[in-house]
Amino acid sequence: LNRRLAEFGTTIFAEMSALALRTGSINLGQGFPDTDGPEEIREAAVRALRDGRGNQYPPGPGVPELRAAVTAHQLRRYGLTFDPDTEVLVTAGATEAIAAALLGLLEPGDEVVALEPYYDSYAACIAMAGGRRVPVTLRPHEGRFRLDLDELRAAVTDRTRLLLINTPHNPTGTVLTRTELTAIAELAVERDLLVVTDEVYEHLVFDDAEHLPLATFPGMRDRTVTIGSAGKTFSFTGWKVGWVTAAPALVSAVRSAKQYLTYVASGPFQYAVAEALALPDDYFDAFRADMRAKRELLAGGLEQAGFTVFRPAGTYFITTDIRSLGESDGFAFCRSLPERSGVVAIPNAVFYDHREQGAPFVRFAFCKRQGVLEEAAKRLRKAF
Ligand code: PMP
Ligand code: GLN
Repeated sequence: LNRRLAEFGTTIFAEMSALALRTGSINLGQGFPDTDGPEEIREAAVRALRDGRGNQYPPGPGVPELRAAVTAHQLRRYGLTFDPDTEVLVTAGATEAIAAALLGLLEPGDEVVALEPYYDSYAACIAMAGGRRVPVTLRPHEGRFRLDLDELRAAVTDRTRLLLINTPHNPTGTVLTRTELTAIAELAVERDLLVVTDEVYEHLVFDDAEHLPLATFPGMRDRTVTIGSAGKTFSFTGWKVGWVTAAPALVSAVRSAKQYLTYVASGPFQYAVAEALALPDDYFDAFRADMRAKRELLAGGLEQAGFTVFRPAGTYFITTDIRSLGESDGFAFCRSLPERSGVVAIPNAVFYDHREQGAPFVRFAFCKRQGVLEEAAKRLRKAF
């Protein structure tokens, strides 16, 4: 393994899912739903397969039906207008979109300011692109993880090329507020920075939280690369369909890298996702309501077991603080949790450069069936 990747090892998700299998535990670690997305969308994939749509290499930018559906979605939801031919790129999941954006936009030595904790692929992809990550730590404040705008500003230097943002935020469940996003946008404009924004949980926001795409803020439309994912929005994480929307020059840069990563992917599924994006609001509302109920179920169980719970405003993850259980090392805690309770979780420290900052935090996924969450809550209450 080369020096760029040496620090990364095996992803925590593979490690913890293997642990769940080995111990027969309930896996609330890796974030994937245990219920597949809509039947009619699975049928759409079967139809595409059967009719020979997408069984051979689809077009490099993605099939026209999906690019049109992505632009229609951005317009309907956010009032954003994109040209499906020059401003949309279909990728092999959001994971490839992130990789291709960083590989296509960074020069070696460029600094990337990213929110910490960060989704694990960010660090590895910045490293593969020869960039330097500069984390800005989200810190607990009145029940949520908050972005300190002064720290964000101070993190930008003359070497900063781009800001890597994620809202709704994995693993903390934070949804960036209008004030926070306005500050990010003002900073990007003032320092002439690009922004790559991972908005894969755009449809999972709860209560009075609102997902505001960065591209809608003044001066941002043409300097922002926005990333979405059918895995998250439609519960098809195995299909690996994601997309990028951005100005033509940025899409072109991302595509330059993408064409040498996978070239193309997921042909028949692209047609199915095009139909999914056109589902009526009822689908999105029901999905959100279902996840909100699950959040309540798991958050309640964790609280009863003695965890300090940060109720997420978005995503399907709950970050907890284990110090209220008399514990302080999330790594050790997650390694022993399957034996102690029959439940698997993720230590947030893996998402930090400043590992000590993340040490007492542990993440649980709640995108699971009600009975599974009830059983997990029961086991945790019994163990603590
Ligand atoms: N970004 C974030 C914040 C995620 O949580 C995930 C999925 N775990 C991804 C990107 C990757 O998405 P995909 O499965 O579409 O590659
Ligand atoms: N995004 C998912 C999570 O955060 C897992 C993705 C993966 O396994 N790479 O849990």
